[in-house]
Amino acid sequence: MQDSLWQAVLGEIELTVSRGSFVTWFKNTRLLRHKDNILVIGVQNVFVKQQLERKYNQLIADTLKKNGAEPERIEYKIYSGATLHKKTDDDPIVLESAQSGARTANRPSPTTLTHTYRQGLNERYTFENFVVGSGNELAYAACQAIASNPGTKYNPLFVYGGVGIGKTHLIQAVGNAIASNNPGAHVVYISTEQFVQEFLDAIRYKKNTDFAGYYRSADVLIVDDVQIIAGKEKTQEEFFHTFNALHQANKQIIISSDRPPKDIPTLEERLRSRFAWGMSIDMQTPDFETRCAIVQTKAHAHSIDLPQPVVEFLANLIQTNIRELEGALNQLLAFCEMRELDPDISIAIGLLGSAKNRPKHINPKQIVERTAKYFHIPLDEIVGPKRDKDIVVPRQIAMHILRSELHLSFPKIARELGRKDHTTAIHSVEKIDKEMALDADIRLAISEIRAHLYA
Ligand code: ADP
Ligand code: MG
Repeated sequence: MQDSLWQAVLGEIELTVSRGSFVTWFKNTRLLRHKDNILVIGVQNVFVKQQLERKYNQLIADTLKKNGAEPERIEYKIYSGATLHKKTDDDPIVLESAQSGARTANRPSPTTLTHTYRQGLNERYTFENFVVGSGNELAYAACQAIASNPGTKYNPLFVYGGVGIGKTHLIQAVGNAIASNNPGAHVVYISTEQFVQEFLDAIRYKKNTDFAGYYRSADVLIVDDVQIIAGKEKTQEEFFHTFNALHQANKQIIISSDRPPKDIPTLEERLRSRFAWGMSIDMQTPDFETRCAIVQTKAHAHSIDLPQPVVEFLANLIQTNIRELEGALNQLLAFCEMRELDPDISIAIGLLGSAKNRPKHINPKQIVERTAKYFHIPLDEIVGPKRDKDIVVPRQIAMHILRSELHLSFPKIARELGRKDHTTAIHSVEKIDKEMALDADIRLAISEIRAHLYA
């Protein structure tokens, strides 16, 4: 009963907000209680709670009203699937009502076996906001050609190059362009990590056919970071069949990797040769001018026009990895935003220039502890096995800070957080990087943790 009210509300909200916002802020919410004129909505973590309270409360109230519910008060409470079953009393961020009320809403727990496949495209990555310059112009041209004529030339397109130089941005831009030119097209973007995971899940839950069917029905299949497939024989085989099916049907395939096929160890020969069928393009680090243009473009996206000396300072400071360059810019912008300052060269040097001379007394353990403390979670949980969202996000943030503050290697970062696989660390740092650009709460959390560290 309650559930159908909330499903109706979500249905309407889904039509009003962007897909990204819906997935991020609304998808995993549920109605926990609706009694005595108070309506309690369960959310998965503090970020969602804040966002709904600050930004979407009115929309939610209006939509509830349209559906016949006019509570005096709407409350947002954090719940998590796992804590529901465990019923602990000591978890500081799970509130009582989540435990008492939630079970009445008769919905499957978030951890049921049903698997949903996602299109995976991030609207943020477009051709329009991709800066073309030395190092990426060839890849850009090929991607543009594919966007206007998918499945004809350059199939597959294999783009390779170092970390943080725009591979994901560019191949997502192709996907976004094709999807918007052809609304009916089934464009699928997937990271190889996710492909591997979904494949394993499909086997485990005996849904192999769904899995194969889904990927083989794509009109455009974009597979990111394919180097991860090295050594994973079963997944390679599945990917091989997917590849053949799509290629035979003249469907476009785009693949990225951090190195050329010949340098991916234990890549099956037959896949290696398939990858070479189309076009392989090497992306290089953008040169100084291009980096300057990227910095300015990113600043403009935040409606800020940076003075040229600041732009050049940043472009000089970080020369190889655009993700790091963007991280430095975001750090500067967040710093200025909090203090209501206009960014200038002395602030930039003060904040970023001294990074190398920072006091050395900060160690990885302090970063992990500080982060756990900031989010009120016990240290053994942030480094432990739990995968609840309200622990995963802080864990990812800790990884991000380990990277940005101490420049630790990914395997080291993974170890500090009790993970075995360094790709988890890569993925986490990337994810937080992206979220920082979109989410003021995450930026704030990071700058506050950092401020505590250096206090
Ligand atoms: P990769 O996949 O090669 O590791 P990404 O595509 O994730 O790198 O790029 C890292 C960040 O740098 C992204 O936020 C992306 O938007 C940005 N970036 C990289 N190259 C460019 C460019 N030429 N123009 C605009 N942004 C760029
Ligand atoms: Mg990438």
